[in-house]
Amino acid sequence: MVENTLRILLTELGSVRIRCLGCQGVAEVPTNDLVAHFRRDCCPFCSKPFSDPPKLAMQALGDLQSAYLAAQELAENLSVEFSVKLSN
Ligand SMILES: [Zn+2]
Repeated sequence: MVENTLRILLTELGSVRIRCLGCQGVAEVPTNDLVAHFRRDCCPFCSKPFSDPPKLAMQALGDLQSAYLAAQELAENLSVEFSVKLSN
C-alpha cells in the first residue's frame, strides 16, 4: 500500500505563504519573522484589514511565530512533523 501523506519537518518550514482573500496577493515570509512583515495588520497589497477587531491577525501570526521558534529550540530532543494528506 502506498502512503499518500507528505510529512514535513518543522525544521523544513523556512517560510509561510500568506494570501489575502480580498485581492489574492501572496506574500512569502520567513517563518521566524512573520510579525515583522505584517506590522500594520492589513494586506500589504490592497490595505484590506486582516482582522476585526484589529490586531487579532497580528496576535495569531505572532503566536504562530512564537510556537515555531519554541519548537525549534526543542529540536535536539524532539522532532515535530506536519502530515499533509495528498489527494489521489
Ligand atoms: Zn489584499
